[in-house]
Amino acid sequence: MIVSRTIADVRTALGERRDGRIGLVPTMGALHGGHEALLGAARRHCDTVVMSLFVNPAQFGDPADLNGYPRDEQRDLEVARAAGVDVAFAPSAAELYPPGYQTWVEVTELGAILEGQYRPGHFRGVATVCLKLFTIVRPDVAYFGQKDAQQVEVLRQMIADLHLELELAVVPTVRDGDGLALSSRNARLSPDERARALALPRALATHDPETARTILEDAGLDVDYVAVAPFDPPVLAAAVRAGETRLIDNSPFEEEA
Ligand code: AMP
Repeated sequence: MIVSRTIADVRTALGERRDGRIGLVPTMGALHGGHEALLGAARRHCDTVVMSLFVNPAQFGDPADLNGYPRDEQRDLEVARAAGVDVAFAPSAAELYPPGYQTWVEVTELGAILEGQYRPGHFRGVATVCLKLFTIVRPDVAYFGQKDAQQVEVLRQMIADLHLELELAVVPTVRDGDGLALSSRNARLSPDERARALALPRALATHDPETARTILEDAGLDVDYVAVAPFDPPVLAAAVRAGETRLIDNSPFEEEA
């Protein structure tokens, strides 16, 4: 596995692989089974698998959230190697946002609802970094998790609006045995918070916003929103806080692929 730190290096590493199908899996590290599912799908369907490892400052509103984001690069690179990644792209923040940086991508409507309402600027950061990764790596296909359903929707819109030539592949949400969607943030939950967080998948499975809200509130979770989102497929989506930890999840109204 090649580890590239710069845009020039990743482009060089990919130069001789452009004849085959290139798959990109963007991640912020702290890899878990959800990321591994994306890497597995990419490995099965592509000749070359590129994983980016970048905690994107532009998508964090709260500096404490950014600084507290779990980071363990050595372990992440081991997981990536074991998953068959060919090229890991792990740039510094200054590599992607050098001094004087001033260009942003905003998906105006889809980026403003639900998560966008509670995390202003989040999807601007996501869309911008993904467009950068798409431009740097030039993948044939990029893999994203259904776990972040609104992110998928925002990126699908960006790809269509900007006429980007890549396919977006969506991988079903990977859950722990108890139903909680895997997330890098789960590590921050106390045992009591984790027990209460189990109400999230249970509530969403009702596919009814009012019933879901009652279940979440009864479990002592602070609800940011619980709403039917008009995505493809439509989902019942929610964001809740268990103590200091904010969790999102969704349940598609159609069977996951
Ligand atoms: P992150 O590192 O949190 O930015 O996530 C990187 C990618 O992994 C995104 O496309 C996420 O949607 C996806 N992902 C995160 N958690 C899960 C999960 N539990 N199941 C499937 N995909 C996931």
